[in-house]
Amino acid sequence: MKKLFILGNWKSNKTLSEAKSWLDAVDGAFPVLPPHVTVVVCPNFLALPLFAEKKHGFSVGAQDISPYETGAYTGEIAADMAKSLVSHVMIGHSERRKYFGETDETVAEKTKRAIAAGIIPVVCVSAIDQVQKLAVLTPEFSGRGIFLYEPLFAIGSGKSDTPENADRVAGDIATLFPTVPIMYGGSVTAENVKGFVSATHLSGVGVGGASLTPHAFLALITSVIA
Ligand code: PEP
Repeated sequence: MKKLFILGNWKSNKTLSEAKSWLDAVDGAFPVLPPHVTVVVCPNFLALPLFAEKKHGFSVGAQDISPYETGAYTGEIAADMAKSLVSHVMIGHSERRKYFGETDETVAEKTKRAIAAGIIPVVCVSAIDQVQKLAVLTPEFSGRGIFLYEPLFAIGSGKSDTPENADRVAGDIATLFPTVPIMYGGSVTAENVKGFVSATHLSGVGVGGASLTPHAFLALITSVIA
């Protein structure tokens, strides 16, 4: 059976007490995952220690990482600081590229930092040219990384891409990085997730809005493993 990833991206949402309520609700109802399914939840940085207090049935990721090592880089969280709290890190989400000026070069730097710290980089791309720019990352990335393909029109819009289109782009990505798992993200819900995880070149989904509500997130996971 192919490996499947379900990654929940909270974005800039939830106070500490809201994060705690989410955890309490999810912990009480989280299903036993089959060995081929990995769920990664990426809360905000402030909530990460809360997630690390005890083991859950899922992995924990960060939404970003510094392109620099530890030191005089005010406001940044370096990979070496995050590594005791997370197994995965999202890099280059389209919102980071759009609102925080992240370039393909920054994305490559961050990815190298994550790999050096032993954190699995989940590199977000919205177009094939962003993938081509990452050719500098082989072979380390090919051995450890994951792609999350998110077409811009589908993010937070309620209008997902079709599994066929997403699979076609994933096929193009796979010709450049044949060993790297590719997820699809953009308005994925419990109702449409099956189409994406069944597509030939896709190995899972990235979930924004539907990861914020315990009920919606658990329903989505249940659809995948049912
Ligand atoms: C995202 O931005 O990573 C995402 C997948 O968002 P949504 O599910 O809300 O479209």
